[in-house]
Amino acid sequence: MGTRLAGKIAIVTGGASGIGAAIAMAFVREGAKVVLFDLESKAAQGCALVATLGVAAVFLICDVTIAHHVDTATIEAQTHFGSPSILVNNAGISIPGGLEEMSEADWDQTFAVNVKAIHLTGRRVIPLMREGLGGSIINIASESAFIGFPMHPAYCASKAAVVHLSRSMAVRYAPDKIRVNALCPGTIDTELYRDFMAKQANPKATHEMILAKHPLGIGSPEDIAHAAVYLASDESQYVTGAPMLVDGGATAT
Ligand code: NAD
Repeated sequence: MGTRLAGKIAIVTGGASGIGAAIAMAFVREGAKVVLFDLESKAAQGCALVATLGVAAVFLICDVTIAHHVDTATIEAQTHFGSPSILVNNAGISIPGGLEEMSEADWDQTFAVNVKAIHLTGRRVIPLMREGLGGSIINIASESAFIGFPMHPAYCASKAAVVHLSRSMAVRYAPDKIRVNALCPGTIDTELYRDFMAKQANPKATHEMILAKHPLGIGSPEDIAHAAVYLASDESQYVTGAPMLVDGGATAT
């Protein structure tokens, strides 16, 4: 048990699985209390995770694209543990499809989950952080903000938006001692990645292409959780508006 986040309260969206779950576990290990927001379809998985984390964690059903879900869940989170000083906007989706093939609904949903949700959570959580001693907002972006993957135009564009939205928020909220950073994972072995692989016509060729692109190979959710602990903790007190790449060297190739 560490103490790097002792006494802090965190909200992690999309916290029932993958990177969000690893972040929640790492935060609790470092002494934080954590509220997980995720979809109703993830309730069993989220509650099972909370059962392993004990009294330091709670799961709330919240679709982060729906304003009244976010409003209600934020109030419930505050009632349960107190005002949060850490917000991880981790919920994200990736719907593959080239620009011409993708439906308008899939484009809009990608931006609703990956970008609009940061507005919906931020406008409710930031006032709570401001009342306290400030806070740290970690927006999960992607290597896709920097690499133009041809079959993921909406995802790439949404993650570039997350990076730049984080800069705007960082400048706006620095006087309130609220730091905002964009944590940018490379290819990480999660459900999202496995769904993507399952849709590939030639998964072996895609796997080899991904390995060739990432000098350190495919990452684990824990690789991202380590960086999230740093950004959430006071160790990063002079870091804001930064895109932090944890991508196994992908953008260096
Ligand atoms: P994941 O699918 O395992 O987890 C995403 C979580 O977000 C799920 O639990 C899902 O239910 C939740 N979610 C989706 N829509 C939601 C909504 N409307 N409201 C609330 N929760 C919702 O995927 P992951 O790989 O752990 O992805 C986490 C984040 O990391 C995402 O933002 C993703 O874009 C980003 N990312 C992942 C990779 C990767 O290779 N896995 C790479 C770069 C960035």
